[in-house]
Amino acid sequence: MNRSDMLGRLDAHGGAWDIIVIGGGATGAGIAVDAASRGYSVLLLERSDFGKGTSSRSTKLVHGGVRYLEQGNISLVMEALKERGILRENAPHLVGNLPFVVPNYDWWETPFYGIGLKIYNLLAGKYGFGESSILSREETLRRLPTIRTDGLRGGVVYYDGQFDDARLLIDLVRTAASLGATLVNYCPVTGLTRGADGSVDGVVASDIESERELRAKGSVVINATGPFSDGVRRIADPDAPRLIAPSQGIHLVFDRSFLPVDNAIMVPHTKDGRVMFAIPWHGHTVVGTTDTPIPEPLEEPRALESEIGFILETAALYLHKPPTRDDVLSVFAGVRPLVRSGDSRVTAALSRDHTIHIDPSGLLTTAGGKWTTYRHMAEDTVNEAAELGRLPERPCPTRTLRIHGYDPDAKRFGALAVYGSDAEHIRDLSRADSSLAEPLDPALPYTRAEIVWAVRMEMARTVEDVLARRCRALFLNAAAAVRMAPAVASLMARELRRDRRWEEAQIAAFAEVAAGYFVNSCNS
Ligand SMILES: Cc1cc2nc3c(=O)[nH]c(=O)nc-3n(C[C@H](O)[C@H](O)[C@H](O)COP(=O)(O)OP(=O)(O)OC[C@H]3O[C@@H](n4cnc5c(N)ncnc54)[C@H](O)[C@@H]3O)c2cc1C
Repeated sequence: MNRSDMLGRLDAHGGAWDIIVIGGGATGAGIAVDAASRGYSVLLLERSDFGKGTSSRSTKLVHGGVRYLEQGNISLVMEALKERGILRENAPHLVGNLPFVVPNYDWWETPFYGIGLKIYNLLAGKYGFGESSILSREETLRRLPTIRTDGLRGGVVYYDGQFDDARLLIDLVRTAASLGATLVNYCPVTGLTRGADGSVDGVVASDIESERELRAKGSVVINATGPFSDGVRRIADPDAPRLIAPSQGIHLVFDRSFLPVDNAIMVPHTKDGRVMFAIPWHGHTVVGTTDTPIPEPLEEPRALESEIGFILETAALYLHKPPTRDDVLSVFAGVRPLVRSGDSRVTAALSRDHTIHIDPSGLLTTAGGKWTTYRHMAEDTVNEAAELGRLPERPCPTRTLRIHGYDPDAKRFGALAVYGSDAEHIRDLSRADSSLAEPLDPALPYTRAEIVWAVRMEMARTVEDVLARRCRALFLNAAAAVRMAPAVASLMARELRRDRRWEEAQIAAFAEVAAGYFVNSCNS
């Protein structure tokens, strides 16, 4: 998969596309996979890199959502649990089964969470990930050796899924591309065209690299821009009422010493009634999240000082050694594309269900949902789009469609497991040129071969694409990512035939973005 081939496909396509998708996050890429697998012609345009938005900034859980169970939203939980099972079947190289322990300090917690989590597992039916069970104090400590011990009575363990969000996104893009879809990054949609009847019948976009204007016609145009949906709707109708209530959530990343086991901690009730997780991820500990309503979504959202304080404070209540600001290796923020309801001030209470909305212009917007349910959301959206665009009806095959990289035994590839079946090709690169086997920084396992692979096969165009989303250096350890940037820029320049000035500009641009991942440069 490379960008010039994609632009070539775009230029060679005569006439209108069946479906044009705006936005290359989980929602857009999921739709591209679905529509292409049904045999529709699909063009997807992403303004930045694939996954630059919310889809690389999640808690990394493929889950039913214990919190929604507490809220009584049984249908949402059941749907998500089913999708969790389908995703593990179709992308076993990226979705793992993780034990979550709820530590109990009050007498009522063990029976309460014990029963609740039994129900959670029962709702999963044949898609279950494992029986939940009650743990003694000793068993809880064995599973969570760094947990606060005073007052600890015991715990409850249950099972849920965990994944690498940006890696799954790239694999979805590759799946769609292999099914014939055309997907281009760094191509913002700047305008919508209208047919004789006044309905939206195409897009105007700009190729950022060549500064060329692109025009494409489509039977249906789908707005899958997540938190940015209202901005695109307002291209069609400047007075379109708001659909999205953006809500920010942040995570702090620490080294593995804070959770040196393969069990996650789930705190079902924080001071302000939210759920918080501490999860082991790529050899680190990720703690989050928050739910802060924000006026407008930013492309590169920044953690608020209050959010950082809240997570540190909550973590200190549960961890034996309270983490401090100095322990934070990276902080990342993301924006939930929640769909508005009557009172949208309390975003934590807003539905995580997805919504499909058709504006009077005929622009179809699909928003909300969760990463976990992206496939179901795509199926519903393409059904709706086919009707709207009067496309021939075709069944959706994605329940059993294997995602690019599919390999049920990918663990054998060690640090390359997230690449699934591609891992062998990356090893081949290192075998052919041993300098590519060298790690880029002692703090992280990433090698030069992965950078070359990302450029050649995964449409990485900038140092940030590589360090934030093809590998997860920026999310794991911002200082290490900044140290890696010059070597990455130089490797990329060689692959992309760019000059020294490009390299320098890339290093500077990356440093600017990376500044937001250090706790000491957040917004107050
Ligand atoms: C803090 C947090 C934690 C979460 N944790 C989980 C979790 O653990 N599990 C789970 O299942 N879900 C989780 N979610 C929810 C999940 O991440 C989102 O529902 C999902 O990623 C939304 O994807 P999206 O494609 O709709 O939006 P995005 O990923 O934001 O994609 C929209 C894309 O549209 C592009 N775009 C915008 N304007 C234009 C334009 N004019 N032209 C072209 N492209 C454009 C953007 O660049 C962006 O890439 C979490 C969300 C947050 C915020």
